[in-house]
Amino acid sequence: MGEERPFPGEAEIRAEDELAEFDDRDLPSYVGAASFQKLPWCPDDESLRRARPEVAIVGAPLDDGTSHRPGARFGPRAIRAATYHAGDLYSIQVGTEVFSVVRCVDAGDAPVVPSRLGRGHRVIREKVRGVAEAGAIPIVLGGDHSITYPSVAAVREVQGAEVGVVHFDAHADTGLEVWGSLLSHGTPMRKLISEGWVAGRNFVQVGLRGYWPERETFEWMREQGMRWHRMVEIEERGAEAVIDEAIAEALEGPERVYLSIDIDVVDPSAAPGTGTPEPGGLLARELLRAVRRIVSRVELVGMDVVEVSPPYDHAELTAALAHRCVLEAIGALAAKRGGGLPTDPRPGDPGSP
Ligand code: MN
Ligand code: MN
Repeated sequence: MGEERPFPGEAEIRAEDELAEFDDRDLPSYVGAASFQKLPWCPDDESLRRARPEVAIVGAPLDDGTSHRPGARFGPRAIRAATYHAGDLYSIQVGTEVFSVVRCVDAGDAPVVPSRLGRGHRVIREKVRGVAEAGAIPIVLGGDHSITYPSVAAVREVQGAEVGVVHFDAHADTGLEVWGSLLSHGTPMRKLISEGWVAGRNFVQVGLRGYWPERETFEWMREQGMRWHRMVEIEERGAEAVIDEAIAEALEGPERVYLSIDIDVVDPSAAPGTGTPEPGGLLARELLRAVRRIVSRVELVGMDVVEVSPPYDHAELTAALAHRCVLEAIGALAAKRGGGLPTDPRPGDPGSP
């Protein structure tokens, strides 16, 4: 490289070969490759096997299950783009380099096409299964929430053991049908439980509020042994106590957890770009802290972040929050390896995240 020392009056440090001066990974996020955080792009079994990732991002750009405002099919692209950082990242929350500790790749998108919801679910299931079989934790970017049905099923299949689910949402998504459709973003959790992929008592919901579903559906949920924590409970007890209980409930039996985040669990003031916004939700910082806490305490076997609808977003707020949910999860995995700060600190601990 050329002269590195700036001289008085000079406005830049010039390299000798400016075309080769920065690796793609170190270029600004809006320049060059468009994978999640510019991670290696491993769209097929062969490249996945070679990379041997611990975490693989999967796009599920499908919104044919949407009941109200559409647009979540554009979510994966928007979430991938919602960063302004380059290279490896040092997480201030957990005090460690995220991507040099945890080997991550972007496995690309499930090859969905519009207007074919059943096919979309089948290819998402195949895609997620391929990632899980390669030994990676799939982190799926939705897409509407119907994608959790094929995603959890695939993870459960590969694990071959019981899996608990912690599900953040304003809505229970346990409807039998929505306007006669059994495949909808209002029904995936019902299907997962009634088809036996997850035991009702290990399916734990956090953040429910508003006006859907109706009483009969909650009665069905109770019959399944499901546990749920409404937003009013969080208001009364605080997010921390509720999250700790949710973790314990998901793990009553299973040793592994799948984490599903409908971004509408967060208040629309911080997550406006979503299909069915419900005022009075979590703070962004409460959700990010909950993600760190859960991932640091459980064996995470899969995760999704869904219902980001970029056409309804403002200033990319919602995409940025969804992106950070993924980063916080990977950061917590990195911190678990040691070297980082505690992700589960007591008040007053140095470096409490
Ligand atoms: Mn949902
Ligand atoms: Mn929802």
